[in-house]
Amino acid sequence: ALEVRDLHKSYGDLEVIKGISLAAHDGDVISILGSSGSGKSTFLRCLNLLENPHKGQIFFSGEELQLKADKTGALQAVRNEQINRLRTQVGFVFQNFNLWPHMTVLDNIIEAPRRVLGQSKAEAIATAEALLAKVGIADKRHNYPNQLSGGQQQRAAIARTLAMQPKVILFDEPTSALDPEMVQEVLGVIRGLADEGCTMLLVTHELSFARQVSSQIMFFHQGRIEEQGTPEEVFERPQSERCRQFMSSHY
Ligand code: ATP
Ligand code: MG
Repeated sequence: ALEVRDLHKSYGDLEVIKGISLAAHDGDVISILGSSGSGKSTFLRCLNLLENPHKGQIFFSGEELQLKADKTGALQAVRNEQINRLRTQVGFVFQNFNLWPHMTVLDNIIEAPRRVLGQSKAEAIATAEALLAKVGIADKRHNYPNQLSGGQQQRAAIARTLAMQPKVILFDEPTSALDPEMVQEVLGVIRGLADEGCTMLLVTHELSFARQVSSQIMFFHQGRIEEQGTPEEVFERPQSERCRQFMSSHY
């Protein structure tokens, strides 16, 4: 569904992504692990061009995204319709939820389906209510984000992403801003999506969760893939000493 080849990204002289390739096929759950500053967020953000890479190829639904370097060397999408499709069909769930504070939960969810997908209000509301029930916060639909707990806000944010019927969902540390007692309710929703066959890339420090839900684990170190494999391979038989150390200090 989503593939990248030899992705590079720099901030000024600092190269933070140094040639990463990855392919997420339909139904894959790929967890990205690695210490702080290893480039996990930057990589994820490059995938739907929230950040512009400097080199590499991105393929979505079998089609290569046409990219062209601007004056600074950053790659920009050439065709608006491609980038619009990518952003519509690749959902992103942020660490800090990023709900619109001035809108109710329901309005947060129906906004993009109405504006981007052209759904009628009734249709968007029906979908939103089903999704809110699915993530367990149907009773919060008329509340504003600041009236919800962190875990409820993140579940609302996941419902908002699902309302766009994405082909792939990117999660960047979806539980790391949450109090410990709220982590499980959000992980439970993500686990449900994995069970349904959603294609997901997940940056997380929840190693035991990653081990349970992932089809593949990638361990990043300084902008490169230091180790990758099935959960069994990476957790039980890590090849690299760094990966071994990371696992033993976080697990
Ligand atoms: P964490 O686990 O702390 O979230 P990460 O693996 O997500 O870390 P990134 O946020 O991708 O790491 O950062 C990778 C490197 O790029 C770091 O050295 C960081 O300082 C640098 N970096 C990230 N964003 C910027 C930016 N906007 N400008 C300059 N440097 C940046
Ligand atoms: Mg990060």
